[in-house]
Amino acid sequence: NKTWVLRSRPVGDIKDGDLELVESPLAPLADGEVRARTIYLSLDPTNRIWMSDVDAYLPPVGLGDTMRGGGIGVITESRFDGLQPGDVVNTGLAHWALYNTLPGASLAKLPTLPGVPLTAFTGPLGATGMTAYFGLMDIAKPKAGETVVVSAAAGAVGSMVGQIAKIQGCRVVGIAGSDAKCKWLVETAGLDAAINYKTEDVGAALDKHCPDGIDINFENVGGEIMDAVIARLNDFSRMPLCGLISTYNATDPVPGPYNFANLLMRRTLVKGFIVIDYFPRFPEGIQQMAMWLMEGKLKFETDIVQGFENAPASLSRLFEGKNLGKLVVQVSDE
Ligand code: NDP
Repeated sequence: NKTWVLRSRPVGDIKDGDLELVESPLAPLADGEVRARTIYLSLDPTNRIWMSDVDAYLPPVGLGDTMRGGGIGVITESRFDGLQPGDVVNTGLAHWALYNTLPGASLAKLPTLPGVPLTAFTGPLGATGMTAYFGLMDIAKPKAGETVVVSAAAGAVGSMVGQIAKIQGCRVVGIAGSDAKCKWLVETAGLDAAINYKTEDVGAALDKHCPDGIDINFENVGGEIMDAVIARLNDFSRMPLCGLISTYNATDPVPGPYNFANLLMRRTLVKGFIVIDYFPRFPEGIQQMAMWLMEGKLKFETDIVQGFENAPASLSRLFEGKNLGKLVVQVSDE
């Protein structure tokens, strides 16, 4: 087997040597276990959180331990009655490994959906799709005609949030870091407007594109972008607090939002959430997202990097904004 092991806790950006590629023999399976060969390894901003010794929603990966992560795998050996070699599964919270040994009872065989590629199970039908679906539908509860703003709008979560909000009949404005992403958001994903925060004055652009204020802020980024949105929220607005990616590599304490008081004045509902808490409801979310996908109502992109050896270096794509849609590493053939 080959696995990526955490050797040192990154300070700021991940650097060479923080993770080490290690070879080890595969142990025989115990009763109830299966072995899955990784096809796609999911790379997520939260991988960076797990590498730090911070009080997060899961304990950090220990030094000397295999890096935590999931993706799509195919069963190669099984000592669990419910899964056979050849079955394709979402490995959930597994490891950065060519082969994962997992309890079969925690896995489910993925269905084959007409016209839907396997990579959809890393994006719209995976954890990021469920983050978008439940964060928006369960927390923000959008109503037709409302104005929704989403940051990191062309990423895995954001690209789904924007389109689900459009399906709900909302006016949707996305914030992203390049003209190409903004073009994709308007022309392919069908958003009403997109703002390039690297070249535009975000506040002025929000004033222009949200003439009736903002009812829902799906927050993925934090920092100045979040502040500009908070300043323009409407009364009784909702703000699913999904992520704060602009802070994950910070080495100094990060100040709170400058416009914090506006959350009081506007009676905004701010709710932090972690998608794993929605795990029991995933079937409901996956079913709805699969319907929309098959009806052609959801467009999605996958940013595929080839080669397991490139996993740690590819994580920086998320922090440099190089990915359009869901970032994965293709570890082996489908
Ligand atoms: P994305 O595919 O959106 O990739 C991250 C994107 O963030 C980049 O493409 C980049 O796009 C943008 N970004 C990076 N750094 C900055 C910065 N300093 N300022 C502004 N934008 C930045 O990743 P995900 O969809 O997986 O995750 C999006 C957010 O959702 C993250 O904050 C993540 O932690 C969070 N998340 C939360 C979950 C939960 O359960 N609460 C579950 C999954 C994700 P750009 O070109 O626009 O800069």
